[in-house]
Amino acid sequence: MAQAGPTGERIFRGIPVSGGVCRGKILVLDRPRPAISRREIPESGVAEEINRFERALATTRTQLLEVQRRVSAALGAEEGSIFDAHLLVLEDRTVLDEVVRMIQEQRVNAEYAFHAIAERYAATLAAIEDDYLRERAADMRDVSARVLNNLLGLEHDLDLRHLKEPCIIVSHDLSPSNTVQLDKRNVLGFATDVGSKTSHTAIMARSLRIPAVVGLKDASTQLADGQYALLDGFSGVVIVDPTDQTLFQYGQLARKQASLEEKLRDTVPQPAVTLDGHRVILTANIEQAADAEQVKVNGAEGVGLFRTEYLFLNRQLPPSEEQQYQAYREVASRLKPMPVVIRTLDLGGDKFLAHLPLPKEINPFLGWRAIRFCLQERDIFRDQLRAILRASAEGNVRMMYPMVSGLEELNQANALVAEYMNELRRAGIPFDEKLQIGAMIETPSAVMVADSLAKRLNFFSLGTNDLIQYSLAVDRMNEKIAHLYEPTHPAIIRLINTTVQAAHNHQIKVSVCGEMASDPVLAPLLIGLGVDELSTAPPLVPPVKFLIRRLKLSEARDLAHFALESESAAEILARCQELARKVAPELLNGE
Ligand code: PEP
Ligand code: MG
Repeated sequence: MAQAGPTGERIFRGIPVSGGVCRGKILVLDRPRPAISRREIPESGVAEEINRFERALATTRTQLLEVQRRVSAALGAEEGSIFDAHLLVLEDRTVLDEVVRMIQEQRVNAEYAFHAIAERYAATLAAIEDDYLRERAADMRDVSARVLNNLLGLEHDLDLRHLKEPCIIVSHDLSPSNTVQLDKRNVLGFATDVGSKTSHTAIMARSLRIPAVVGLKDASTQLADGQYALLDGFSGVVIVDPTDQTLFQYGQLARKQASLEEKLRDTVPQPAVTLDGHRVILTANIEQAADAEQVKVNGAEGVGLFRTEYLFLNRQLPPSEEQQYQAYREVASRLKPMPVVIRTLDLGGDKFLAHLPLPKEINPFLGWRAIRFCLQERDIFRDQLRAILRASAEGNVRMMYPMVSGLEELNQANALVAEYMNELRRAGIPFDEKLQIGAMIETPSAVMVADSLAKRLNFFSLGTNDLIQYSLAVDRMNEKIAHLYEPTHPAIIRLINTTVQAAHNHQIKVSVCGEMASDPVLAPLLIGLGVDELSTAPPLVPPVKFLIRRLKLSEARDLAHFALESESAAEILARCQELARKVAPELLNGE
C-alpha cells in the first residue's frame, strides 16, 4: 500500500537495488499472461469459437494499424513500416486455416489451437539458419502474443523496443529475458512488485546503471501509465506526484551525485591499493561480449565473471560452438593480456531457455541448474567447452564451473575438458594447454569440501548471492523474506573465512563475484577476511576502487576479526557501516 505524503504525494516503499534517482512518466507493463490451457468445446460451440477467433484477428489488425500510425508519426515512416510484416502474419491463411481446422476437428478452444499452431510455425522458421526467416519468426511471436491477449481479454503490453519517450518502467516482475529486450535508452528506472537485491534483474539494472526499486508489493496495480513519479534507487522509494519540496531535496541530491561522479572518474586509471599499500584485484562481471568496452572504461583489471547464459536467452536455438567461440574470442582478444574468467552455463533458477522447455520445477534454485544441467546435456556442454578452449588461444582466458556441490561434479567436468582438449589437439586446433580452471563456491557443501576442491583447481570464486540463499535457506528472489537475507550473518562470515583459508593453504586465489563485492559497506569485510579479488558490475568498479583507496588493510582486518568473533548479524553490519561511513561517506545512500 502507498503511504500518502503531507501534500498529496504518494510514497511506495520497496527494496533499493540500483542506486540513482530518476523522474519521469510511468509506464506500467502488463502482468504475465495466464497459462494457456486446453478446453473442450461442445460441438454446438464450435462455430462461435471460430467467430471468436476471427474477431480477435480483426481487433488485432485494428490495433496494429493504430500502433503503426502512432510509431510513424513519432519516429517516421520507416519505423512504422516494421508493422507491415506483422500485418502480413495476420493475413497468412495457411496458418489461420489450420487453426480453424484444429478447432473444428479437435473441438478445442481458440487460444489453445492458435497458440499451438503459431508456435509450431515460429519454431520452424526460427530453426532455419537465415536471418530473414528468424525475423519472421519473431514477428509471428509478437503478433500471436497480441492475438492471444485479445482472445483472453487482456490488454496488450507496449512494444518496448519502440518507446516514444523516456519512462519509468513499473511491472509486477521483470524476467532477465524481458529486461535484456528493453530499449534501454528510454528506460529511466525500474520498479517492480517482487524481486530482491540479488535477483538477476536487479543485477542487470546495476550494470546498466539504471536506478531500480523492487519489492514494491502491489505498486503495479496501483500505478497508472502517464503518472509522474520520482524513483530513488538509493533508499528504495517511488514517489508519485512529488511536491516541489521533494523535487527540491532530490535536486540537491542529484548535485551531490554529480560531484561524486567526478571524483569517481578520477579513480579510473588508479590502482586499487589501500592506504597502507595492500593491493586488491578489481575485475568486472559481464553478461555479453559488448560489455568488454565497459570493463576498460571503468578501469577494471579484467573480467572476474562472464555470465555466459545471457548468450543463450531469447534465442530459438542454443548458440553454436562457432557463435560462442566468436563471443568469447572477442572479449578475450579485446582485453588481452587482462584475464577473462568465463563461467560455464548457469541456466535454471531464474534463467530459462526459450528453445528448451524445461519441466516446471517446484524448487528451481535447488533443481536442474548450472553444472548439473550441463553434465546431463552433454551436447550443449561440449559446444561451450570447446568454444571456451578455442578462445583460450586468443587471450588470457580462464574458466570456472558454477554451483559445484562436491568433488564428483568437478571430476566429471574436468574429465570432459580433458576429452575435448584431446579432440582439439588431434585436430591441430590451438588452445591454452595451461588453461586455469576454477569453481564458484556458492553452496555450503562446496565450502565444507573446499580443501579437496582447492587441490584440484587454480582459483575459487565465491558466489555469495547463492551461497547466502543456500546457507541461510532464504530464496534470493523473494521480497517477503528479504530481511532474512543477511550477508553479515555469522554463518556467512565463517563460510567465507573457511573458503579463503582452504584456498590460501593450497596457494590459490579467491575472488568474490557475488553482489557483496560491490557493496561499499561489505567490501572492506571481504578484504579483511583475505579475499584477493573483487568482481563487480563494470560501473561499480570505480566506487569500490574509491573506497579501497581510502581504506587501511589494518582497519579491514580488525573488522574481519570482530566479525569472526561476533554472534550477531546486526552487530557485524553496524560495524561494517561504521567503517564505510568513516572512509567513504560519499558512497552511502547517495549522501
Ligand atoms: C553468485 O551466486 O553470487 C553469482 C555471482 O552467480 P549468479 O548471481 O549469476 O547466480
Ligand atoms: Mg550463483
